[in-house]
Amino acid sequence: MLKLEDSYLHKGKRRELIRTLRNKGISNEAILEAINNVPRHFFFDSALLSHAYEDKAFPIGEGQTISQPYTVAFQSELLNVVPGEKVLEIGTGSGYQAGILYCLGAKVHTIEFNKTLYERTKRFLPKIGVRVKHYHGDGSLGLPEQAPFDKIIVTAGAPVVPKTLLLQLKIGGVLVIPVGDRKQQQMLKLTKQTSKKILKETFDNFSFVPLLGDEGWE
Ligand code: SAM
Repeated sequence: MLKLEDSYLHKGKRRELIRTLRNKGISNEAILEAINNVPRHFFFDSALLSHAYEDKAFPIGEGQTISQPYTVAFQSELLNVVPGEKVLEIGTGSGYQAGILYCLGAKVHTIEFNKTLYERTKRFLPKIGVRVKHYHGDGSLGLPEQAPFDKIIVTAGAPVVPKTLLLQLKIGGVLVIPVGDRKQQQMLKLTKQTSKKILKETFDNFSFVPLLGDEGWE
């Protein structure tokens, strides 16, 4: 059962989480405010509710996870959403990252491979006022029918950078994607400077569930 009340206790825990994120180096105020405004415990089932404000990833069923808040904040900082931008998220999962992007003013398109999670999150997000467009399918191929995007964020670990995703970015657009093996991936920020020139910046290692599909893992 989902618990949709946001008590003083939850708000206090969120403020503590924000302090933790600041101490870990997150400094973008809009992102910290979005994290403060999206009750993460809404995305947890009752058995794990007491853990919702720990800075950790947790299971959401179907063998998948809700990302660690630090990871969500870090990827959001790299993405640097400007309100009104059209953003593709690959790996809807619980919908938490989509909720943060929505709070940042993005027009969010989010795609999920797992049908059960797709259906669950599509039903759930409107209930908490998060309005994004949901798709079911292989996001390793992007979302050609809605391209081009200002920004693309991949929230599962890829073996390589899918070329299709770079093609679906506008000039000046940014792709944030963890790339590596099945256990550990390096966070990459790729900026499409011209149709042929991509600026690649590399960051710390993270540990994501695998990106499946044609341009992901088998
Ligand atoms: N963004 C999510 C959140 O806020 O809860 C966390 C995502 S979870 C770490 C990764 C998600 O990517 C899983 O739900 C998984 O099913 C999904 N996924 C894996 N491969 C995918 C693909 N090719 N296309 C779309 N989603 C994919």
